[in-house]
Amino acid sequence: MEPTTGLTAFFDDRYTTDGAEFETLRKSSTVRDRVLDDGRWVIRSPRPLTEAEVLAVHDRCYLEALGSGDPAGLAGSNGIGWYPNLLEAVLWSGGGVRDAVLEALQERRPTASLSSGLHHARPESGAGYCTINGIAIAVRAALAAGAVRVLVLDLDAHCGGGTVACLEGVAGFEQVDVSTSGYDAYEDTSAAALRISSAGTYLDDVARALDSISRPGTIDVVLYNAGVDPHEASGGAAGITTDTIARREALVFEWAAANDLPVAFTLAGGYRSSRLDLGGIADLHLLAFRAAAQAAGLRAA
Ligand SMILES: [Zn+2]
Repeated sequence: MEPTTGLTAFFDDRYTTDGAEFETLRKSSTVRDRVLDDGRWVIRSPRPLTEAEVLAVHDRCYLEALGSGDPAGLAGSNGIGWYPNLLEAVLWSGGGVRDAVLEALQERRPTASLSSGLHHARPESGAGYCTINGIAIAVRAALAAGAVRVLVLDLDAHCGGGTVACLEGVAGFEQVDVSTSGYDAYEDTSAAALRISSAGTYLDDVARALDSISRPGTIDVVLYNAGVDPHEASGGAAGITTDTIARREALVFEWAAANDLPVAFTLAGGYRSSRLDLGGIADLHLLAFRAAAQAAGLRAA
């Protein structure tokens, strides 16, 4: 039987896309099973994104292409390709990010959405396996709900340049980004700071990035894009192991707890290889759920 009390992880079967083999569009159901087994999380369906929420970040012609599949180049600009229910899937998945941020803001406790494929999407198109920038949409929702300072902590292996492009000039948004790949890199702005790290200094770089955040106690909510693709078996950097990712998640959630900051987090990147199957990816994602529950004072069952 599924637990009825615990921390909220947003998910709905509609996050996944019929016929899509790509991890971004199917791994969430495997992660859901692991999260339920943990015993400290409840799975809830979010409200899907509205057209108005998408249009606050993306161009109308891109949204229309996602609905119709035409023009094909634009509709499949995420790099995965277009599917008849791609738009439905990303509206549900993006809605989960928004609802996770709003719940974290209101309830002041960790929340999650089993969403991925977010941070490279730009106003005019998808990119890098990302279709709709649910991170940017969720930041706007938090600001509209009264948050004054919203921090995006992006520790996916790849840089969050799409989010910076979507939120350029939006007061209250800031991003701290530690990546192990230069894909989607951007020049630092007054709101966004990027550092490219490597296996030897990875945890130190994450710790330094967290330490560099000024007056963390004034942040209203943290949106953590918790990609596990820095892992050496997921296309990341040789030397970043499962233990490294576990210690990273402990660093993040202990830093947040020490500063009394609610964190909403997403799955983000994590890919199969000859050394990592879908279950192995789900195990890596589960590390964030465990660290979040532990930092919230919930004991493992
Ligand atoms: Zn990535």
